Amino acid sequence: MNEAIKKQILQKIKEYDKIFLFRHIRNDGDCVGATKGLKRILQLTFPEKQVYLIDDDRAEHLEFLGPEDEPVEDQEYTDALAIVIDTASEARISNKKYTLCKELIKIDHHIPLENYGDIMWVEENRSSACEMIADFYATFRDELKIDKQAATYIYTGMVTDSGRFKYEGVNGETLRNAAIMLDCGVDTEKLYAHLYLEAFGYLKFKAEIYRRMQITENGVAYIYVDKAMQDEFGLTIEQASACVGTLDSIRGAIAWMVFIENNDDEGSIRVRLRSRFVAINPIAEKYNGGGHAMASGATVYSWSEAEQLLRDADAHVKEYKETHEGWL
Ligand code: AMP
Repeated sequence: MNEAIKKQILQKIKEYDKIFLFRHIRNDGDCVGATKGLKRILQLTFPEKQVYLIDDDRAEHLEFLGPEDEPVEDQEYTDALAIVIDTASEARISNKKYTLCKELIKIDHHIPLENYGDIMWVEENRSSACEMIADFYATFRDELKIDKQAATYIYTGMVTDSGRFKYEGVNGETLRNAAIMLDCGVDTEKLYAHLYLEAFGYLKFKAEIYRRMQITENGVAYIYVDKAMQDEFGLTIEQASACVGTLDSIRGAIAWMVFIENNDDEGSIRVRLRSRFVAINPIAEKYNGGGHAMASGATVYSWSEAEQLLRDADAHVKEYKETHEGWL
């Protein structure tokens, strides 16, 4: 699919001596894996090129993938190609220096919120941006080089963004691309240990979530993780936010969300919305957010606004349940 765009992208990469890779704020396994994976492929294939991945946004649980490049002077960006991966809107690009680059390529699998860039390769049905990078490699495998390290980065994002190949969007193509990565020697036992083992104290936090979780009349499961709860369990915002998956297996709760009180002066609350069967992104979009149909993010600025969001989500789920069959 999109062979012509992929060819254009490879052509652009060949034209530039210097390439910078960019990803979204609040990084995750997919955008980290995709940028690191593409960087490694480009370095192996074109050793004469300078390829940079500069981002001071650190994700503790992804530290095992290794560090990023040191910052460079602004003028280094000006004659370079920017490749932005996994980021639907410019506002969400983490390293803002992308504006200094000469040309920009967008590679993304989110529902497009806006068009940006000189070349756009967007496939919103892909289960991860890493799957797109694997597909890019597979398309040009006669020309591009890969190794175990690059495949591990890419496989990381394929696994994390698809919920271990569970979510909607996973299809035969996903698994064929994953197979190509595995064939490069990814150590899955080690990778899964890095990604999924949990600290004893974190499981205690999860137990508290199960104790405090609530559900709306029509089946939206939710939990507020306020600062007091974050402090009680000694959690960073990032660690607290990771609990959204805890609510994902409740029969009848076809949408679920967590509200995480941010540590800012505005009193903002991060909302992570998830669903099965019913798309939840319309609710996210109404509250300063967006994302995927079944996995979106939003921001509200008070608990009363959070309650309003919940009422909207409840009405949305009610409508879906009344007009559809087959959900569980
Ligand atoms: P999260 O719950 O923050 O992991 O978000 C789920 C998905 O929605 C991710 O793919 C995010 O990139 C996307 N997303 C989160 N917050 C926003 C936002 N404010 N605007 C647009 N997309 C978002």
